[in-house]
Amino acid sequence: MKKYIMALDQGTTSSRCILFRKDGSIASMVQREFPQIFPKEGWVEHDPMTIWSTEIAACTEALLKIGGSWDEIYCLGITNQRETTVVWDRKTGIPVYNAIVWQCRRTADYCKSLSEEGYADLIKNKTGLLIDPYFSATKIAWILDNVEGARERAERGELCFGTIDSWLIWNLTGGKVHATDYSNASRTMIFNIKTLEWDKELLDLFKIPESMLPEVKPSSHIFGYTAKSVFGAEIPIGGVAGDQQAALFGQCRFEVGELKNTYGTGAFMLMNTGEVPHITDGGLITTIAWGLDGKITYALEGSVFVCGAAIQWLRDGMKLIESAQDSEYYANKVPDSGGVLVVPAFSGLGAPWWDPYARGVIIGITRATTKYHIIRATLESMAYQTADVISLMEKVTGIKISELAVDGGAAQNNLLLSFQSDILGIPVERPECVETTALGAAYLAGLASGVYSSLEDIRRNRKTDRLFTPERDAAWREEKISKWKKAVARSLQWSE
Ligand code: ADP
Repeated sequence: MKKYIMALDQGTTSSRCILFRKDGSIASMVQREFPQIFPKEGWVEHDPMTIWSTEIAACTEALLKIGGSWDEIYCLGITNQRETTVVWDRKTGIPVYNAIVWQCRRTADYCKSLSEEGYADLIKNKTGLLIDPYFSATKIAWILDNVEGARERAERGELCFGTIDSWLIWNLTGGKVHATDYSNASRTMIFNIKTLEWDKELLDLFKIPESMLPEVKPSSHIFGYTAKSVFGAEIPIGGVAGDQQAALFGQCRFEVGELKNTYGTGAFMLMNTGEVPHITDGGLITTIAWGLDGKITYALEGSVFVCGAAIQWLRDGMKLIESAQDSEYYANKVPDSGGVLVVPAFSGLGAPWWDPYARGVIIGITRATTKYHIIRATLESMAYQTADVISLMEKVTGIKISELAVDGGAAQNNLLLSFQSDILGIPVERPECVETTALGAAYLAGLASGVYSSLEDIRRNRKTDRLFTPERDAAWREEKISKWKKAVARSLQWSE
């Protein structure tokens, strides 16, 4: 009797496994942290073997914990930290170098020279991305240029490149399948998101041999089966998507104009734009949300650098709170921020301001200002920054957003979500299951293997934990937003 869908959630700091029941409820969850490797300032690596071993350990433990058996698993889905790059030997499966993590800045100079040589428009038009060390292309090039013999081996067809999903698929299938899905491919900066092919011109630019690349498949698709040597059972791998895209799917944002925001350390907003890739400026990225039923769904992605991190700053830097949860308790001690605004531009501002020289500002302080006002204003800054990105998305797509679905650690904060709803003037909905990333991978896998018959079938699983509706009028909103913009203006170009 099949009972569970197994979701592998391979993140930046931990490998997790969640077993979901068909109704989307969680039967078991295990998390294994693994070491971050910092060889130099600004460099970040992971050991690919540790990623693999912690991930299968998490899977095995998740099943053991509930006394389950492998025969009870319908299928398996993978979601992963995006862009992180692994290159390994096709014969032995041994990586030629550590995984270069998305955060790693080692290729910053290379990216700068690409921008100076005028490649920004070409790259944006083909891949939807900004030239940045985040994305895989320059990381692959770095490995080929810096690991002894790597380029020759790659040219002889002996090496494979993959993002973490590919690395896991390869290992799960005992080296039989070298594949990725559209959502992950769209983060490499060598995948053409319009023609849906690895782009020859970009491969030439980055000097990456095509033989290294995985086959690109729909996100909901049977990629292969786990080797008996891995789990003792041949389980279909039915769903693969990068973490943010998987969260959009897990939030059931299947329709054009549907949007989710994840309030984590930073904030990640993805808006479903359907079959249209809106290529745009102003710091938004165009990405593939998923490939499903022979169709590609695109998304616009915007991020806020400092979101929950501002709460960490209140706790660790300012020592105004003891824990992140306290922020709500203290903020509730005052009816509003008393005219105080905090712009947490600690390392510049992203969309729509896009100013690396901006720095943080606390403004509007009077003799009556207390720590409660500052805490409240810091929480409110998370909502303002989210609203800025959403209004940019509305502007470039011409789509009016009617509701925001939320998840991430700080989405537990009711005061934040209630203010978010007031500032946007639309409902904000927090689902019961906040493990939306893993859930998205499980849903994609469940669709491919027949556990679910349709998107409607999946949507029926969705339960609302709480709906926050706006309690303020447009005049209040306009005044608040104009004050916020004034505060942001004070923060811009500060460290230039
Ligand atoms: P990540 O995946 O980026 O590590 P999480 O989704 O786990 O982040 O969220 C953690 C972040 O959310 C932290 O920055 C923390 O300060 C913030 N956070 C957690 N709980 C709350 C809360 N109740 N109110 C406000 N912020 C919170």
